[in-house]
Amino acid sequence: MDIAQHKARLRQYFDGVGFERWSAIYGQAELSPIRRSIRVGHAAMLAHAERWLEATSFPPGATALDAGCGTGLWSLALARRGLSVTAADIAPQMVDATRAAAAQAGLAEQISCHVSDLEELRGSYDLVACFDVLIHYPEALFAPMLRHLAGLCTGTLLFTYAPSTPLLAALHRVGGMFPKSQRRTDIQMMPEALVRATLADCGMRVGRTQRVSNGFYHVTLVEAIREPVVHR
Ligand code: SAH
Repeated sequence: MDIAQHKARLRQYFDGVGFERWSAIYGQAELSPIRRSIRVGHAAMLAHAERWLEATSFPPGATALDAGCGTGLWSLALARRGLSVTAADIAPQMVDATRAAAAQAGLAEQISCHVSDLEELRGSYDLVACFDVLIHYPEALFAPMLRHLAGLCTGTLLFTYAPSTPLLAALHRVGGMFPKSQRRTDIQMMPEALVRATLADCGMRVGRTQRVSNGFYHVTLVEAIREPVVHR
């Protein structure tokens, strides 16, 4: 597995064909039933995450990082809640879309947008979110990326991964039989035990988790919380 090559491929995809495809899914255009099921599933996932946030209190001036912001749906939701948001994505077209959406919503001041690989991001944030990004990374890259995100987070880390179940594995095998041009990007399933072990390794406790399934959209949404350091 060549990390740089894998990332370069994803960057190119999400800055071209993938941008068209996903900005349509995350937007309002007419869609095929398969893609509509992904849109609905993704919207349900974001709605869930927002409900979790309602019960979370943030200090005044709290900061949030939206890693792999895509077209900015979640960045906007965070900015509306009064958080000061850093939105970053590896694909320039996605970052442009987020910037435009922020301006249109009158939230440009609350959202600073950057083209960046999430592993190049530095700093510390009260909330770190990374939705539907890690699903594109195989096990060897998944754990280091999750560890990096945890390292940027002083409070709550929210992310999704593609759970590994026999049924979903079968679905993916069927998916693999479609002509390549119609196939969605390869989704990498992760065993729950690996996710939990990685978080524990970073001193994070798993809070709430939620499976979100709709048609062709299947993820597990995870809330991880940084445990305060106890000095004895
Ligand atoms: N989080 C958004 C978009 C999900 S689409 C949402 O849920 O609405 C996945 C996004 O991850 C794409 O925009 C893609 O460009 C971005 N991405 C993939 N690998 C990345 C990486 N290594 N660093 C930053 N962004 C990445």
